[in-house]
Amino acid sequence: MKEVWCRSALTSSKLPGIDYSLNPYVGCSHGCVYCYVPSMLRKSREEWMGKMAAKRNIPAVLRKELKSKRKGVVGISVSTDAYQAAEKKYELTRKCLLLLLKHDWPIDILTKSPLVLRDISIIKKFSEAKVGFTITTLNEESRCILEPYAPSIEERINAMKRISSHGIFTYAFLGPLFPEVEEKDVGQWVEILVDAGVNEVIIDNFHLRGSIWEEMARVLPEEKKRIYIERIKSKYYEKIFLRFQEEAKGKFAVLRAFM
Ligand code: SF4
Repeated sequence: MKEVWCRSALTSSKLPGIDYSLNPYVGCSHGCVYCYVPSMLRKSREEWMGKMAAKRNIPAVLRKELKSKRKGVVGISVSTDAYQAAEKKYELTRKCLLLLLKHDWPIDILTKSPLVLRDISIIKKFSEAKVGFTITTLNEESRCILEPYAPSIEERINAMKRISSHGIFTYAFLGPLFPEVEEKDVGQWVEILVDAGVNEVIIDNFHLRGSIWEEMARVLPEEKKRIYIERIKSKYYEKIFLRFQEEAKGKFAVLRAFM
C-alpha cells in the first residue's frame, strides 16, 4: 500500500444523519463487486484497488480541522472501509477516533470488519456513537462472489454482538441486500439480528447501474443473474421491506436507505 499526504480530513456530506465523512484510506481491500466508489471516480475496480493508499498525515490534519469546523456527526467511512486490513498496521482510524473523542464529536462507523472491536474501549467513551455492520446476505457462497476479500458474514455478526453487548448503539446496514432473500426467510434474519442486539436495520436495494452491473454479470452464475434482474425490476424490495417491518415490530427499527 502506498502512503500519501492529504490536505483535508473532514469532507461535508449530504448523507442523511451524517455531516462529514472521514476516509483514512484511498481505495478498499474488501473489493466488493458492487462498490459504487470506483465508478464515481471513473476508474475500474482493479485500477481503484491497485491504487490503495494510507493518508499518513490525516490525524494531524484532523487535529487542526476539529478546532475550526462546526461540530457535526462524522461518518467513518463513506468511500472506504476504515477497518480494512491496512488499519492493523497504520492505525489511522484509531488515531482519528482518539482526536474525535478529545472533542467529543458524534461518530457513525460503518464497516464490514471485526477489527473495529480493537477500538471498543475508545468508542464506548463517546457521548454519541453508532457502529454499523454491512450485512448483505446470509449466504456465504454469495458473499464470496460479491465481496471476495471481505470478512465472512459470521465474523460480522459475532462482532456486532460484541459491540452491542457493550451498550453501544448498533445497527445493521442491509445494503445492498442481495435479492436472494425469500419473504419466508425474513423471520430467520430478524431472529439473527435480535440475537446480535441491533437497535436499527437499514435496507438498501441493489441498483442495476451500468458499469457495476457489467462487473456483476461477469461473476454471478447464470441462475442467480436471472433471479437478480427479475427481482430488481419488480416490487421485490418493497415486499421484503414490509415483511422486515412486520417481523421486527417491537424488536428494532427498520428503515429504508436514502436513494
Ligand atoms: S467495503 Fe465498502 S468501500 Fe470497501 S469495496 Fe466494499 S462497498 Fe466499496
